[in-house]
Amino acid sequence: MGYSHMAIPAGLVPPMCFCGDPCKLEMSDEEETFRRRYWMYANRAFDPPEKALMEETIEPPPLCDFEEWIDKEVKEKDREWFNELRDWNAKINAGIVARKKEEEQRNERIVEEKCRAAAKRKAEREVKLARAKRAKAALEENPDALRKGKWPSGWLGVKRCSAEI
Ligand SMILES: [Zn+2]
Repeated sequence: MGYSHMAIPAGLVPPMCFCGDPCKLEMSDEEETFRRRYWMYANRAFDPPEKALMEETIEPPPLCDFEEWIDKEVKEKDREWFNELRDWNAKINAGIVARKKEEEQRNERIVEEKCRAAAKRKAEREVKLARAKRAKAALEENPDALRKGKWPSGWLGVKRCSAEI
């Protein structure tokens, strides 16, 4: 059961637990019993490590299971408060989900753009390769074309050298 610890107000006398110790005063933080106060066993089966105690990550089982409600019903204002808290949490969670989705979409767009750019470069290389092939074929048919300045010097690299030898 979720709960929060409370100081015992004047006028309330804690009952004795089964083990003979006085009970602690607690308040529920669960929906069905929100903010209802109750008496609870004070002793637990073992001491949790100090760090776990601070973070409330470990809740040792009770030594006894004494529990007794003080408030018999959830107060109307507490019911409203619980609903407000629940709506508030839902709103925060919706915001987190929306931001996460936005980020995923942004990452997808970046990947798509990279793919498109890579495909474009590939297509450009193919066009250039085809152009180079045509140029080499033309040169083989007419070796004088190079000297006439049809292509810039260096354009055909090694091929041009062997053609000139
Ligand atoms: Zn006890």
